[in-house]
Amino acid sequence: KLFWPKKRRMQDIFRRMSDSGIICRDDMYNIWEQKEFRAILPYKEFIFNILIHLDILAEQRRYDTATGSRLSVDNFFVPCMVTERNTTSFMDKECTPERAICLAFVFKGTVIPPALPNRLISACLSMWTLKQYEGRKLLFSGFIVVSFDKAHDIVVCVEGNNILLYIVHKTSAGLIVPDIATGVKECLVTTMERISDFYQSTIHEECSQQLPFHIEYSCSKLKCFISEEEALQTNQWVCDEHNITHNTGNSTVWNQDKV
Ligand SMILES: [Zn+2]
Repeated sequence: KLFWPKKRRMQDIFRRMSDSGIICRDDMYNIWEQKEFRAILPYKEFIFNILIHLDILAEQRRYDTATGSRLSVDNFFVPCMVTERNTTSFMDKECTPERAICLAFVFKGTVIPPALPNRLISACLSMWTLKQYEGRKLLFSGFIVVSFDKAHDIVVCVEGNNILLYIVHKTSAGLIVPDIATGVKECLVTTMERISDFYQSTIHEECSQQLPFHIEYSCSKLKCFISEEEALQTNQWVCDEHNITHNTGNSTVWNQDKV
């Protein structure tokens, strides 16, 4: 359970962290100056860097608009502290079947490993730039939107025992660059492998080779799903809810280099 400090300054830090998901290095050091954390204070820089390495914290990316070079920053995202849910209209207005494609990472059993979604969101923040929409940063509990480039946005959101990945194009889903969709998918798979390996290696001495999830591709309405194995075995599939015939060739957008 979280330790809630009495001091006003600490309350301010925690409120800012749960509202915006952002903390600066000095605020974190201030938290550790309380007597409960004194033991780690001599190693504060080392521990702070470990938290970044473990994807608990993620650097806020800032760029020089003139040169495009990355600026050094003092603010860090803490996705696991964010409690606010997404109430923006981004999914309804932008992430539409006309402009987006979707796949699901479906976890075996009933639950996603604890802390995996937040660490995946941290990893996204360390790779891509957080999207602003209608004046708000799109980082919420179990939900994030980042910009890949001027035409492509990436949405990662948790729904039950699925982690959904959407690629949203500025104008049309048909214009999504397959190299980008494939690259983003592979990148998230690698990240989740890394995170899952870490969890397993802390519990068991040997890591099991099996991933804790499989991939399913959505129908063109973004609602029905077909497993990767089925998609590879058939040329066409008809989704249950919409009765639309899909060429499984469409899923090559997610598997560019395997064609
Ligand atoms: Zn469907």
